[in-house]
Amino acid sequence: MSFSNLGLCDPILQAIDDLGYKTPTPIQGQAIPVILSGKDLIATAQTGTGKTAAFVLPILENINKDRKLRGKRIRTLILTPTRELAVQVADNVAAYSKHLGLTSMAVYGGVDTQPQKQRLIEGIDVLVATPGRLIDLAHQRALYFDELEILVLDEADRMVDMGFGAEINKIIERLPEARQNLMFSATLSDDVLALADSFSEGALDSRAVELSISPKTTTAPNIDQWLITVDKDRKSALLSHLITDQAWDQALIFIEKKHGAAKLVDQLGKRNIVADAIHGDKSQASREKILADFKSGKLKYLVATGVAARGIDIGELSRVVNYDMPFKPEEYIHRIGRTGRAGAAGEAISFVAWGDFKNLCAIESRLNHIIKRKEIDGFPVRKLVPVSILNYVRKSPGPSPRADRPDRATSKHARPASTGSKPESGPNARTNKHIWG
Ligand code: AMP
Repeated sequence: MSFSNLGLCDPILQAIDDLGYKTPTPIQGQAIPVILSGKDLIATAQTGTGKTAAFVLPILENINKDRKLRGKRIRTLILTPTRELAVQVADNVAAYSKHLGLTSMAVYGGVDTQPQKQRLIEGIDVLVATPGRLIDLAHQRALYFDELEILVLDEADRMVDMGFGAEINKIIERLPEARQNLMFSATLSDDVLALADSFSEGALDSRAVELSISPKTTTAPNIDQWLITVDKDRKSALLSHLITDQAWDQALIFIEKKHGAAKLVDQLGKRNIVADAIHGDKSQASREKILADFKSGKLKYLVATGVAARGIDIGELSRVVNYDMPFKPEEYIHRIGRTGRAGAAGEAISFVAWGDFKNLCAIESRLNHIIKRKEIDGFPVRKLVPVSILNYVRKSPGPSPRADRPDRATSKHARPASTGSKPESGPNARTNKHIWG
């Protein structure tokens, strides 16, 4: 399939060509015709699959046909969970629409509202926004929704996870009923499905087309995933060792806490490794500068908390590191989706400490395979992490790290890593579920 068969106009095809895209990705091939036809769409697709172009290109095509724009009106609203993602999506909109006479911009918190209000005066064809700032601007009458034609919820699962559900519903209530609704989400939890149903009435029964590009249990196939079990107090030494010994050109390093991020940057610095960190406490300007340096290759190692890293899109990112394991399997899938993007090869390395055992079980159960383990000379572990139980079901999904300790782990449940990647499904697995649950 080629882009020219999809029914996009020449200025859009030219922009795609300028970017060097040769063929549509699977989500693009499937979603573009649906969106062009004006139908509602609910798509399961993780980042890295080309999902942004999958909705932006047909939106541009549709709204370019009949352009009428009044002051302070917006025709398309794309809601994103984070400022970084808003900026990134708006950059994509600008690139894809550069040969069209359409306007676009991003609005997000943490920066002065005045320049954003100024630009809204003339009206905007495509507005990318984080929910909080959008509501602020609407309260200040800087924009009106009465002429909105298309609503996109991007990374809907993430917005739900971040507690934006109520704000999104508030926004939806203010929108005209006759509009096209598009939702993209890496995973479809019950909460996301409920949101889909409220945003597109009866979405799940009739009106909306559902597409599942990447089943929720899978990750992009070109990501080499491996893990190292490590004692907590040796993680920074291990990271420094890997960066130097394996001559890493680049790494995006995920860490749990903001203060941990700053500390890790210091620890790496003491070993002559220059890194920087982005997290919620940094100003927007400094986050953007650090991201730009990382994208350009000036900064090779970036430490980020999960939320801050959400919107990062680096075309050629070769490696992500879970310095701290995420609590939720969806988060693991999101994180490693930062690498191996749009066909490029990538590597995802996880540091797994003894207390991460239940998280690891949940992640590997979701992936439906055991992540391959590597041992690094000089880093023996004091506390072994047993090999996971693949039909593991977490009993109470509370974020208490203490509850996650493999209190009853004994070596008799541990299998050597080399047992391969087959899901465990025999009676033993069921027994184990009771032991760990
Ligand atoms: P996304 O999933 O939207 O975050 O896109 C991931 C990356 O793939 C971005 O860097 C896009 O610029 C790139 N991309 C999107 N569509 C294509 C395509 N058809 N061919 C090559 N690269 C693409």
